[in-house]
Amino acid sequence: MSLEQFKNRNVGQQQYRMLDLGKTPETGWGRFKQVLGRSLKVELLIGLGVTFGVMIRTLFRGETHTIRYPFEKIPISRRYRAIHEMKRLLESGHYRCIGCGLCEKICISNCITMDTRYDENQRKEVSEYSINFGRCIFCGYCAEVCPELAIVHGDRYETASEQRASFSLFEDMLTPIDKLKSQQEYPGFGAVSPNADENIKKTPLAY
Ligand code: SF4
Ligand code: SF4
Repeated sequence: MSLEQFKNRNVGQQQYRMLDLGKTPETGWGRFKQVLGRSLKVELLIGLGVTFGVMIRTLFRGETHTIRYPFEKIPISRRYRAIHEMKRLLESGHYRCIGCGLCEKICISNCITMDTRYDENQRKEVSEYSINFGRCIFCGYCAEVCPELAIVHGDRYETASEQRASFSLFEDMLTPIDKLKSQQEYPGFGAVSPNADENIKKTPLAY
């Protein structure tokens, strides 16, 4: 059927199927008899059989589709942008952030606040870093712009808070030093793609 035919079709000629619902009972006794008649039909027993079958499979065979949140969590998409994490260098354990400030500049909600200073070796270190998750819109710009893969989106997506303003400090987001070995590289938003080396344009030898 073409679109024109579809638009001009006569819907009044459709073949509707009318259900025979019977006469509506008007007395209390009539209604009681109707309920009793419907309840004793085989359909009720079939429905109960399905219910008991599912219950037995769930209780005794563990075939459940229910996720026992918060003890169980379904895996989230690689590109899901959840609460941020700050990563460490695997070799030295030092945090990766070099204090360049790009994430603070690009943040569309202006919710990243950071400051840097020179340490005793005249090396730049991050003295303050916080994200106001009450304002963050989880756009992912900060993770995408970071040249060091220092700030990434993790997989913690419970963002509810008892306070309206929920700040997160650098230390809160930084991988604990005792968990450095289990630090996972974030495979999603802002991370290096698996074929990144193929996409790098080689410097010409004559350059
Ligand atoms: S995800 Fe977006 S809004 Fe949130 S801190 Fe990063 S740049 Fe700012
Ligand atoms: S987290 Fe990344 S973008 Fe932000 S200051 Fe550190 S190195 Fe720069």
